[in-house]
Amino acid sequence: MIEEPGVTCPYCGETITIMVDTTAGSQRTIEDCFVCCQPIELTIEIGPAGEIEMITAESDDA
Ligand SMILES: [Zn+2]
Repeated sequence: MIEEPGVTCPYCGETITIMVDTTAGSQRTIEDCFVCCQPIELTIEIGPAGEIEMITAESDDA
């Protein structure tokens, strides 16, 4: 199951759409913002029913 949630870029504040494969379970990934091209560190929590419970988008400099 591929979901396409929107997340807010921590660098430029734009909302971007990412692709999440919910069958892969909870995951951490780096996605380049396609507005400002900065690497966004995404933490994606997948619930027991395979739904997206939470997405955290952080800058990669922490
Ligand atoms: Zn951005």
